[in-house]
Amino acid sequence: MEELLGEMESYAALNHVPIINERGRAAFLQVVKEVRPHRVLEIGTAIGYSSLLFALHGAEDIEITTLELSEERINLAQSYINRSAYADRIRIMAGDAAENLLRLQLTGQKFDFVFIDAAKGQYVDYFHKIQPMLTDKAVILADNVLFRGYVRGDVPTPRRFKTIVKRLREYIELVSQPPYTTEILAQGDGLAVTRRVLDYDKKA
Ligand code: SAM
Repeated sequence: MEELLGEMESYAALNHVPIINERGRAAFLQVVKEVRPHRVLEIGTAIGYSSLLFALHGAEDIEITTLELSEERINLAQSYINRSAYADRIRIMAGDAAENLLRLQLTGQKFDFVFIDAAKGQYVDYFHKIQPMLTDKAVILADNVLFRGYVRGDVPTPRRFKTIVKRLREYIELVSQPPYTTEILAQGDGLAVTRRVLDYDKKA
């Protein structure tokens, strides 16, 4: 498995595929190992690298549903996954994530872990769409929320990134309000770890 993951890391580096970067990976793994999820919904498969990390470090009965738009990446992800011991644990859904989230809602499935890692301008929309599919104790992880340092602090945002940065700020605002609480891990490009405040509805 280490060999396969190493091969994927090299492919990603050579071909500029944005898999979770080395610094972000440590924080990502820390959360995954702590939660040990059973049912994962991943938005943004790329070549299947983080899907395999989930499979490796999640619960023994883990099942992962992962959404990806690019046909080329789906084919590559499937071929890597087929070479692992987890081919029966990971299901790739092809197509636009927002549309597939609506399809998934209809199935009545629930997830105890969601990893948001696709179109950065869509995180708020994804967060709304996953709501009916979350278990009470679900953890929602979103990558790149500090986007190159532009989202927080004084680094001026280049014009071409202004909309993305505005939308990521909206996402952070949304997940920082009850019934949610969010911790932002600054490693890598910024990981937002969101949890529901337990019994919030009973307290309110
Ligand atoms: N989670 C992966 C990992 O760490 O190994 C990396 C995912 S990469 C940052 C984001 C992926 O989201 C890209 O492969 C891109 O093609 C995909 N993507 C972008 N927009 C999408 C959309 N609207 N629907 C589905 N996938 C999308």
